[in-house]
Amino acid sequence: MMDKYRCRFHPERKAVLYCEKYEYGYCDECVSDDLLCTDPELYCKFRTHCIIWENCRHLLKEKRAGSE
Ligand SMILES: [Zn+2]
Repeated sequence: MMDKYRCRFHPERKAVLYCEKYEYGYCDECVSDDLLCTDPELYCKFRTHCIIWENCRHLLKEKRAGSE
């Protein structure tokens, strides 16, 4: 059973971030470890206030800039 208040990868830890689209929680460590959006290319209506996406957006931009 999925608990959105628990980390997706560390169920024993409390989630500090939460993906509203997939209902995944993430702990402190996962967030600081360059956490990426599960589906960065897919439209997400929660994106405007999603911290995961904010984080991911910068990394994607860097990645794209590097491959061009
Ligand atoms: Zn975690």
